[in-house]
This record gives sequence, C-alpha cells and structure tokens, in this order.
Amino acid sequence: MTISEDKYEAVIGLEVHAQLSTITKIFCGCSARFGAEPNSQTCPVCLGMPGVLPVLNEKAVEFAIKMGLATNCTISEHNVFARKNYFYPDLPKGYQISQFEHPICKNGRVEVETDGEKHTIRINRIHLEEDAGKSVHDEDFVDAGSSLVDLNRCGTPLIEIVTEPDLRTPQQAHAYLSLIRQLVRYLRICDGNMEQGSLRCDANVSVRRKGETELGTKTELKNMNSLRNVENALTYEIQRQVSLLESGRTVEQATLLWDPSSGTAQIMRVKEEAHDYRYFPDPDLVRLEIAEDYVRQLKKMLPELPAVRRQRFMDQYGLPEYDAEILTSSRELADYYEQTVKIINDAKLVSNWVLGDVLRVLNDKKIEIKEFPISEIRFAELLKLIREGKISSSAAKKVFDVLLTSDKSADVIVKEMGLIQVSDDSAIESMVKEVLAEYPDEVNAYKNGKTGLIGFFVGQVMRKSAGKANPKIVNSILLRLLSP
Ligand code: ADP
Ligand code: ZN
Ligand code: MG
Repeated sequence: MTISEDKYEAVIGLEVHAQLSTITKIFCGCSARFGAEPNSQTCPVCLGMPGVLPVLNEKAVEFAIKMGLATNCTISEHNVFARKNYFYPDLPKGYQISQFEHPICKNGRVEVETDGEKHTIRINRIHLEEDAGKSVHDEDFVDAGSSLVDLNRCGTPLIEIVTEPDLRTPQQAHAYLSLIRQLVRYLRICDGNMEQGSLRCDANVSVRRKGETELGTKTELKNMNSLRNVENALTYEIQRQVSLLESGRTVEQATLLWDPSSGTAQIMRVKEEAHDYRYFPDPDLVRLEIAEDYVRQLKKMLPELPAVRRQRFMDQYGLPEYDAEILTSSRELADYYEQTVKIINDAKLVSNWVLGDVLRVLNDKKIEIKEFPISEIRFAELLKLIREGKISSSAAKKVFDVLLTSDKSADVIVKEMGLIQVSDDSAIESMVKEVLAEYPDEVNAYKNGKTGLIGFFVGQVMRKSAGKANPKIVNSILLRLLSP
C-alpha cells in the first residue's frame, strides 16, 4: 500500500443479481432452463404481447424469502410489484416487472471474515424481479454492425441483493460475494455460476479521507464475471480514484466496464441523467400478502447454514477450524464427509483424506463432489483398512487411485494387488532378527548411543517385507530387541 492510499479509505456497496433456479419463469409457464436454442422458450406473456396477464410463480417467492431468512432480513408482509420503464431491444414489454417501494426482504445482515477479522455487512434490501433477454453482439454469430436478440431469458426470476455501503476493501467484497454464492447454493435457490451469469455483481465504490464520515462520489463497476475479477476491478478503481484526488482533481460519477484481459476499466457512461424509470405499481398483478405462518414454515425448511455447520463440525467432531471451514464450503461436500464419518466414526482420519486426496481429485478433474466416483461406503471401507492397520498409508493411496476407476471394493483391490500389511508379530520379529544379524556394526553403534540408526533398521525391515510390514510394529519390536 502506498502512502497516499494510506490516507484514504474505500467505501463499497454491492448489488448482486441471482438467477433463481425455478423450473419455470416468474410470470409464465415457459421453461427457465439455461442454454436452449435461442427464442425457443418464450410465450405471449414473457414477450409482453398486449392483453396477456402475468401470474406470479410461488417458487420464486419461496426462494426469495429463504434468502431473506438466511441473511437475517425482515420479510415484508405487503408486497407490490412495480413496472420499471425503460427501452432496450432485449426488453420487448418496454418495462421490467420489479419491486420498488416494497421489496420482499429488508434490513438484513451477514458477517464476513478477512484476515481473521469479522465485519458485519448490512443488507439494505432483497427484491424480486424478472430478467430481460440477451443481446448477442458476438462476431462469431452476427454480421458486423448488427446484433441479435435471444428472449429466452426474458422473465427468468431474479433476486437483487443490495448492501449498505459497509464494505471497505476489495478483499471484503470478495469474501461477501463468496458468502452470498455459498448461501444461494446451500439454499439450492441458484446455481451460483458467475461465468454463465447466474450470479452477477455490480460494485459501487467511492473513496474518502480516513476519518471523514461523508460519502465520496461513487462510480459503478460492471462486467465482472468472477470473484477474482470483482476484487481486481475494485483494487484498480480505488487506485484510480485516489490518484485523481491526489492530483487535485475530482471523481466524476460514472459507470465503468471492467476488462479482465487488460486489467483496466473503461468508462462506459458519465453521470447518467438521474434515472427516471417512472416506477408505478403494475396493474396486472395483485398485491402479494405474505402470511407470518408461511414464513415460519419456510424457516423450518432451511438447511443448516454454513456458519452454523462449520461451528458444529468443530464442536461435534473436534476438528480444527481450518478443516471445518473447507469441509463445509459446500453443502454436498459436508454431506459426503458426514456420511463417511457415520460409517467409520473417525472424524480426523476422514477429514485428512477429504482435504487431501479427495479435493485433489476434484480439482484435477474439475468435478464436483456429486460427480466423485467413490461413494461414501466404498471410501469408508478403504479408510477402515488403514485404521485397522491392514494396509499402510502408501498402499492406501494406491488403492484409492484404483477405486477411482474400478467398481471393486477396497478389500478386493488390496488382495489382488498383494498390499495386505503384515501385522503378525512373529513374522515381523523374524525379519527384524535377520536384519540385526546382517548389520552387526550398526547394532554395536546403536548400543553405543547412535540411536538415530533406528530409522535405518526400520527401513531395512520394510525393504525385506517389500513394504508390507506394519511400521509401528516394526518399530516397537526393534526397540525391544535393541534395548540393553
Ligand atoms: P443508485 O441510486 O445509484 O442506484 P443506491 O443508493 O441505490 O444508488 O445504492 C446502490 C449501491 O451503491 C448500494 O449498494 C449502496 O450501498 C452503494 N452506495 C451508495 N452510495 C455509495 C457511495 N457514495 N460509495 C460507495 N457505495 C455507495
Ligand atoms: Zn413465457
Ligand atoms: Mg439503486
């Protein structure tokens, strides 16, 4: 951090759009599935033909409320849908149905941690709205100078989650966004995929001198389709604003587009004429009244959320925070872990293997735990062989690799590969005696105080057993036979 940056602090507020994973759209029966043939999932309602009536999808309401509950919001009893009027080619109605004065969730808060410090981020509101279509300018599909419109996305349900300007660093923004993604995935209300645009983030940022309480002029960053991009764009923009102030100039209110390839942001438009969306209540939709009892039902349906589950993993399984954090990073990974522990009841052994070899395979193959080829039962069978001393941990790694591509059980693989560990005391003792007879000089040196030679003897016995002797037993027999 430079000295000039040290004099300033950044103020950041995030607006996150999450596409709800309902089967159908928010006001019609069209499929909301991603990736279909362009314009194949439309109807008169989502195309905004005259005389049609939108009907609200209850699932979208349920999903929005769940997110509100997970972020400690108040759920509004009275809800009104409003028309937000603007013209754009991918918005055939000429307005977007959204919520203005009466969002479904208000006044929430979440906690994020960066560098071991906790920060409370207030949520101003979460509102429900419909998405617009997509304009395609891609030169692979479109002749120069023209664009195409795909209206499949028109009417897809979104929630927009708006924070108060409570974030202070790009790292906090990264942590917040990562938490929001984790929450929507735990709740199974959105796939959280930023590359495909199911989760999109606009970042508002201003800077001010430290100690100042007034907010500075903000700019808005768009087009960041990964957590890293959001963090990088904010770092870039904060530096740009600080440089402007340091050179005696002022920050102009603007919208900027982040360009990840150059690592810079281009100003898209300056100080928009104050938005005039002419919001008014949509006369086609009735007021939405949300009963307290309905909210209570949904609250009961919520899964155990990440922070609670992480703490429980520490309390119940005696795991270090580091393990608990990674194991609960996704609901599915946490489930996989708990299922396995339920079978073999050795929390730390399972954790070590999940954090080590399982995650390595997921990363290498770029797959999710639900696509991981070793079921909890087969995984537990392998870990049981280790715990019972039947195979060494290096043998276990070999078996693990085979399990990835074979349907055979760990037991069968161990037998076929001849990996059973020798734990028979008398067999090991006779190998130990052979080794000691072969190295009389080393035995003498050991007895004269060169006890570091123990490792040498263990190594020799292991070699004699072709790696199959149980090293713990080898060690204890050696100590006994070498003791004066
Ligand atoms: P707009 O009218 O431009 O949409 P809002 O008041 O609705 O602005 O705020 C949009 C987002 O910008 C919110 O997340 C809010 O916390 C954040 N925000 C508002 N003012 C500032 C500021 N001066 N600096 C940084 N963020 C801000
Ligand atoms: Zn439709
Ligand atoms: Mg706003």
